[in-house]
Amino acid sequence: MPIQSINPEELLHDHGFRITPLRVGLLTLFDSQKNPLSIADITKKMKRYRADTTTLYRAVEAFVEAGFIRKLSFSTTRTNKTYYDLIKPRQHTHHVLCEYCNTIETILFCNRSLESGAKQNSKLFKTIHAHELSFVGTCKKCARAVR
Ligand SMILES: [Zn+2]
Ligand SMILES: [Zn+2]
Repeated sequence: MPIQSINPEELLHDHGFRITPLRVGLLTLFDSQKNPLSIADITKKMKRYRADTTTLYRAVEAFVEAGFIRKLSFSTTRTNKTYYDLIKPRQHTHHVLCEYCNTIETILFCNRSLESGAKQNSKLFKTIHAHELSFVGTCKKCARAVR
């Protein structure tokens, strides 16, 4: 288990959420993950809380609304998937999803000239300071199977 980077109770309290075992469990789950989770992953990993997918979906979406979980979309002509990830300060990562088997990997790569490039091509903006970026590809295992 990696070192906890958040205090679930404190986070919930600070954002005006009632502290429930389900919410604490969800945040603890997110905090322990290396990679983003889909609703199917969350449902599987939260089994012992006996909450259905709809309940979990609503709880996660409320965290997205509150700004401590980020929603990631991966879409191409072959796939259209949504994942959720805990927003950690001072940590900037991107993710790549396999469009065949949904393997997901967190990569510590970023092109820091994205913002300045966008700024150069923008007519209306004074500053551009953030971006979101999702990669889709074929994992090594699927590449072997497809061939
Ligand atoms: Zn794959
Ligand atoms: Zn980036």
